[in-house]
Amino acid sequence: MYRIDLPTYDVPKKWYNINADLPIDLPKPKSSEGKDQVGDLPNMLINECLKQELSNKRYIKIPKEVRELYQRMGRGTPLCRAKGLEEKLNTPAKIYYKREDTSPTGSHKLNSAIAQAYFAKKEGVEKLTTETGAGQWGTALSLASSLMDIDCTVYMVRVSFEQKPFRKSIMQVYDGNVYPSPSMNTEVGRKINKETPNHPGSLGIAISEAVEEALADEKTKYSLGSVLNHVILHQTVIGQEIKTQLEIAEEEADTVIACVGGGSNFGGAVFPLIKDKINGNSNTEFIAVEPAACPTLTQGEYKYDFGDNMAFTPLLKMFTLGHDFVAPSDHAGGLRYHGMNPQVSLLANEGYITSKTALQTDVFAAGQLFAKTEGVIPAPETNHAIKVAIDEAKKCKETGEEKTIVINFSGHGLMDYKGYASFMDGTMENSI
Ligand SMILES: *Cc1c(COP(=O)(O)O)cnc(C)c1O
Repeated sequence: MYRIDLPTYDVPKKWYNINADLPIDLPKPKSSEGKDQVGDLPNMLINECLKQELSNKRYIKIPKEVRELYQRMGRGTPLCRAKGLEEKLNTPAKIYYKREDTSPTGSHKLNSAIAQAYFAKKEGVEKLTTETGAGQWGTALSLASSLMDIDCTVYMVRVSFEQKPFRKSIMQVYDGNVYPSPSMNTEVGRKINKETPNHPGSLGIAISEAVEEALADEKTKYSLGSVLNHVILHQTVIGQEIKTQLEIAEEEADTVIACVGGGSNFGGAVFPLIKDKINGNSNTEFIAVEPAACPTLTQGEYKYDFGDNMAFTPLLKMFTLGHDFVAPSDHAGGLRYHGMNPQVSLLANEGYITSKTALQTDVFAAGQLFAKTEGVIPAPETNHAIKVAIDEAKKCKETGEEKTIVINFSGHGLMDYKGYASFMDGTMENSI
C-alpha cells in the first residue's frame, strides 16, 4: 500500500497520556527553592492544560469541538510509503512517512494549538502569548486563536524573524501580533536589548517575554508549543493514527524516527507505540534526531533546570544544555531549544529512546533527496529525521534486512526558502 488514508470518523476520540505507563514515576516540577510545587504555573497556564500536565489518567477525552476542528483542519493525515526514495537508495527497507505537513499551517503544531485555544476560550481567557522559533508554532497558535476569536501575541526569535520575513505576514493573516524577540515590549527584552544590541534572540528569551506579558494580566495566558507534557498529550493523535494505519497496511514498525526540538512531534508520534515496548511487547527502536549544533539529548545533562532563559518557570527534570544556552543561528529554528520534554527525557534516560545528532548540510542533502524522489519539500527540522532514516535504510542495504521504518514528517519546508537557497548555492555552513 502506497498511501493509507484515515476517514475522518477514525480520528482518535481521546489523547493518550504516557504518565500512566512510564516505567518509573515522572519527577514533579519544582520551585527554585527546591520544593515540589508548580510555582507561577497556575497564573501562567490555561487551567485545563495545567490539569493535563500533572494528570496520571491514561486516556483523556478530546472535546467534541476540538475533534471536529481536527477533522476540518485535515485529520486523519495520510501515512505514505516513500517508494521513490526506497528505489533510489536501492534498499530492502520499507520507508513510511506520516504527513503532518498536510495541516493548513504546514506542521503538526496545530494539533496542540487548537486544543489550547479551545480550553483558553472556555475559561474566559482573552489573549494568548507565546514564543516561536521558526514560526511554525506562532502560525498555528495565530490560526487557532483566530478560530476561537481570542487575541494572540507572538514573540519570534529575532534571527528567525529576519531569516523568514514572510512568516510574520502569514501570522498576521491569521490576526497574530508578531514581535521580534528580544523586543521592547517587556522588561526582559528591554534589558537584553540595552546590554547587547542586535541580540539574535533564543527560544529561552522569547519564552521569558511571553511569560512576563501573561503574568502581568489576568485575562492573558501563556501558551507553549512544545516541551510540556500536555502539549505532547495533544500530539498523541499522530501516534494513535500511525498505529491504526500500520495495522491496515499489515506492517509492524521496526524503527520510528522523528526530529526533536522540545519533543512534541517525537513524543506525539512515538508514545502510543512505546507503550508496547515498556510492557515488553515490542522491540521497536525509537530514534530522536537533533541538530549537532543543539545536542540536548545526546550531550546535555539530565537534571532539574528552568524552561526559560530568565528562570521564570518552575524547574523541570529534563535533559538540558543549561537555560542560558544560546544555540548557533542555524536554519532549523524549531530545534534550537536548550531543554527537552520531561517524559521524553525520562524515557531516553531509561534506555527506551535512542538519540542521534545530524549536521545541517547533511540534513539538507537528505531533504533534497527526499524532495526529488517523493515530491514534498520537507521542513529543515523534518530533514533531521529523514537523514537518519536514509542512514538506517542504507544499513539495511548492507545487511539485507527488510526493516519497516516510519518517519514522522513533521512539516513542509515551503516557508524555508532562505535555508534551501543557501544550501543550493553552497553557502550553507555548519555551525559546529
Ligand atoms: C516545531 C517543529 C519541530 C520541533 O518541535 P518539537 O516540539 O520537537 O516537535 C519539528 N518540526 C517542525 C516542522 C516544527 O514546526
